[in-house]
Amino acid sequence: NAVVELRGVSKVYPATAKGGSPVVAIDDVSLTIEAGDVYGIIGYSGAGKSTLVRLVNALERSTGGEILVNGTDIAALSERDLRPVRAGIGMIFQQFNLLNSRTVAANVSYPLEVARVPKAERQARVAELLAFVGLSDKAKAYPDQLSGGQKQRVGIARALATSPSILLADEATSALDPETTHEVLTLLKRINQEFGVTIIVITHEMDVIQTIATKVAVMDQGRVIERGDVFDVFSNP
Ligand code: ADP
Ligand code: ADP
Repeated sequence: NAVVELRGVSKVYPATAKGGSPVVAIDDVSLTIEAGDVYGIIGYSGAGKSTLVRLVNALERSTGGEILVNGTDIAALSERDLRPVRAGIGMIFQQFNLLNSRTVAANVSYPLEVARVPKAERQARVAELLAFVGLSDKAKAYPDQLSGGQKQRVGIARALATSPSILLADEATSALDPETTHEVLTLLKRINQEFGVTIIVITHEMDVIQTIATKVAVMDQGRVIERGDVFDVFSNP
């Protein structure tokens, strides 16, 4: 049961400077991510990982191939029809992307406001999410009063607000120290196991993949150069 499937996907950015050349950020990538996977995508800076994420959540349009999210080819969808697809994908980021002028509770509530969830329901859901990530006592705090690990837990609560079936983690632990990284990865693992959320982990750190992922694709220069079970890909016979 594929949740995300890429078939021969390419993304070419037009030349930015006059006389410059177009950039092939994604080059004929095919990838199948099954329901319940914790799927790691690893590669050096410039390999195409962020572009891949932006294609999957339709922030960016591909220039070739097919991207199926829960069976629907998103390349063919209008902006309007993309809305429910995006609502089914939660995102967490390296720099957390919290709104600093809003409280923790208001940050978590934000996607629910966008989805026009009634106030009473929103408040109940936010309370439930903050309890889940262990931040009930920080509901009225502002992001700049929190540690990095706490900020990322707010980011996770916000990403889960609309109950997505897919969670995209883009370098989500890269700004955190090792201990906090471990905490956040443990929380992601629980989300995968308890709620059956499929998690896609983008990182340049091998440790992150080995701690949490079951499958991995290694990217280089826009291509997938190796893929498989984490154990097989990273064991050196
Ligand atoms: P990674 O996330 O693995 O670091 P990216 O997806 O950010 O890789 O970048 C892949 C390639 O695409 C790089 O060569 C980068 O310079 C280029 N690229 C990324 N975004 C753009 C853009 N908006 N316009 C032009 N080139 C881009
Ligand atoms: P403002 O309306 O104050 O300009 P934005 O709506 O542009 O704020 O959001 C600021 C940041 O918060 C962005 O970087 C964005 O990634 C993040 N963000 C906003 N809404 C959501 C959401 N529903 N889910 C995840 N991230 C969000």
